[in-house]
Amino acid sequence: MDKVVALCKRRGLVFPASEIYGGIANTYDYGHYGVLLKRNIVDAWWQAMIEDRDDVVALDSAIIQHPKTWAASGHLAGFTDPLIDCRKCKKRFRADHVEELSCGLKPSKHPGEHSECDLTEQREFNLMFETTVGPVKEGGTTVYLRPETAQGIFLDFKTVLGFARRKPPFGIAQVGKSFRNEITPGNFIFRTLEFEQMEMEFFVPPDEAHQWYEHWLSERMRWYTELGIRSSRLRLRAHDPDELSHYSSGTSDVEYLFPIGWSELEGVANRGSFDLTAHAQHSGEKLEYFDQQSGERYVPHVIEPAAGVGRAVLAVLCDAYDEDEIGGEKRTVLKLHPRLAPVKVAILPLVKKDGQPELAREIQKLLRRRWTTEYDEGGSIGKRYRRQDEIGTPFGVTVDHQTLQDRTVTLRDRDTLEQARVAIDDLIATIDQRMNSPWRSPKPD
Ligand code: ATP
Repeated sequence: MDKVVALCKRRGLVFPASEIYGGIANTYDYGHYGVLLKRNIVDAWWQAMIEDRDDVVALDSAIIQHPKTWAASGHLAGFTDPLIDCRKCKKRFRADHVEELSCGLKPSKHPGEHSECDLTEQREFNLMFETTVGPVKEGGTTVYLRPETAQGIFLDFKTVLGFARRKPPFGIAQVGKSFRNEITPGNFIFRTLEFEQMEMEFFVPPDEAHQWYEHWLSERMRWYTELGIRSSRLRLRAHDPDELSHYSSGTSDVEYLFPIGWSELEGVANRGSFDLTAHAQHSGEKLEYFDQQSGERYVPHVIEPAAGVGRAVLAVLCDAYDEDEIGGEKRTVLKLHPRLAPVKVAILPLVKKDGQPELAREIQKLLRRRWTTEYDEGGSIGKRYRRQDEIGTPFGVTVDHQTLQDRTVTLRDRDTLEQARVAIDDLIATIDQRMNSPWRSPKPD
C-alpha cells in the first residue's frame, strides 16, 4: 500500500487534501491522471449499467434531500458507529475496531491497553454530516449530506416510473458524492469522508427478487474481472445473518484482496420492499406498481449493487502496480487494462530537432481525436518511457530519423516491451485493434 500511495503522490494521481494546512483526516484530492483514471472507471460502470442494457435509466438526484428522508430510511436512528474516547490522549476510536487501532500513548498499544488509558463508555455516533438550510443557523432547518445516493432513487421512484415508460424489472442508476463522518483511519482512499458511489436500484416483482439478486451478483463480479482485476484477488462474501442491515434479506460483498486484507469493494443487497414501504408510510404517497394488463398492484422489491468509485480506483491501482527490471534498471509500472489507463498513447520524438517534434505533433493531432494522448519531448527516451510506464500508458509512439524518411514509427507495448515498426497510415487501425483485444493482467495470480 505504501508504494501505491507514494506513486500516487509522486505522479499526482491522488494526494492529501488541504495539504498546505497540514491536511485533513481521510480526505484526498485527485490530480490529472487520477481524475482520468477515475473517469474511465465511472464510464465503464455507466457503459455496463446503462448503455449496454435496455432496462436501466439514469438519475442525478440532490445531495441534500428533505430531512424526513433519513427518518424514513432508518439512517437517523440507526446509521451509527459505536465510539469510545480516551480522556488521556484525547483520541476517539471505533469500539468495534479496537484490535486494529493504536492508542495515542507511547509505546503504542491498542486503545485501553496502556496503563494510562482512560476510556469512556461506548456511545453511538451518527455518521451523517449535519448542516443548516436557512439564513440563520438558529432558525434554520437541520438537513443532512446524503450518506448514500440510493435514497434519492427511492424518493424519485414514482416520478421516474411516470416518464421512463418502464415496468419492473427495471433499474435506476446514479453516480454521485456521498458523505460519512468516518473516524476510522482510512487506509488511503479506502475509507474517506466524502466519496463517490455508483449505485443502481433494480425494482422487480417480489417473486423474482432472488433470481435478480443472483443475476446482479454474477454481473458485478464479471464487471471487475473485465476491468482486468485478477480473479484470484476477487471474491464474493455473503453476509452472516447477524451482519445483515435492517433492510436486507440477503447481502453479499464483492471483496478484493487489498494489501490490508480482503475488504469490501461493493455491496449487493436484496433490500426487499423496505425502502419503498418506509417512504410511502412517511410521505403518504403510494409507491407501488400497478400493472394495467394483469390488474395486479404491488410494491416492487429492490436489488441494489452499490459500489464505491474510490475503492475501485484503489483496487485497480493495487492490482496494476508492479516493479520489474529493464536492462538492469528497476522499472515501476502500472499494468492497467488499456481501457482504464489515464493516457492511452504517448507520442515521443526521439530528438528535439530535425523536424521530429513537428511530425510528432502531427501524429498526436491524428490520434487525439480517438484517445487521450500525451506529447513528451523532455529528457532521454528511456526516462520518458519510464514516466509513461509509471502512469500505465499502454502504447508509446516514437518518432525518429527513419520516420521522416518512410513515415513509419515505433509502437512500444508497455507490458511486453515489444517495439514494432508501424506506418503512420496504419497507426489508428493497429492501436484500435490492440486496444479492443481481450486483455489479461501479465502479473502472476
Ligand atoms: P464499510 O463496511 O466498509 O464501511 P459499507 O458496507 O458501510 O462499507 P455501503 O453502505 O454498502 O458500505 O456502501 C456501498 C459502497 O460505498 C461500499 O462498498 C464502498 O465501496 C463505498 N463506501 C462506503 N463508505 C465509504 C467510505 N467512507 N469511503 C469510501 N468508499 C465508501
